[in-house]
Amino acid sequence: MDYYSSYISKLIEELSKLPGVGSKSAQRLAFHIINRPIEEVQGLADAIVQAKEKVRYCKECYTLTDQEICPICANPARDHSTIMVVENTRDLAAYEKTGKFNGVYHVLHGAISPMLGIGPNEIKLKELMKRMQGEIKEVIIATNSSLEGETTAMYISKLIKPAGIKVSRIASGVPVGGDLEYIDEVTLLRALEGRVEL
Ligand code: ZN
Repeated sequence: MDYYSSYISKLIEELSKLPGVGSKSAQRLAFHIINRPIEEVQGLADAIVQAKEKVRYCKECYTLTDQEICPICANPARDHSTIMVVENTRDLAAYEKTGKFNGVYHVLHGAISPMLGIGPNEIKLKELMKRMQGEIKEVIIATNSSLEGETTAMYISKLIKPAGIKVSRIASGVPVGGDLEYIDEVTLLRALEGRVEL
């Protein structure tokens, strides 16, 4: 039963596919969009399509970027022998905001979760192992302190340590299950400075 125009119904349907958007929010957003000037709506639509078209993975660290190599990896002043492993680009941004980490990153895009059926092959682990062939002094594992994050940290440690590369884990103090991006900079710095060798 279509109470509204089928165009509105379609818009609501598409919006409700977004994470955290329930059917009520989707309706609210749809009517808001309908009531905005066409230029503004076009701007939103363009921004969505352009972001999707232009953004890709950095060839080195797999963060999201619009260049082949992201600005961090392309920066010769960064220490390319120290790699911090994070779950996603938002975690990378959280550490970058502290301005105190001069190494480079590796973005896994997830964590190992047997419960959700996410195995080592579903995240960017092979890509990390490939980087180990270069001159790497230390790998700092900064995955979340959730069960998945810890499982991933242990897994990576077992893979890398036999190669004689120093592997460390950021200190706990990062709340259990806490998303790194919501943690303040002081806590992040403390976690980084207090990292322990695995
Ligand atoms: Zn990069």
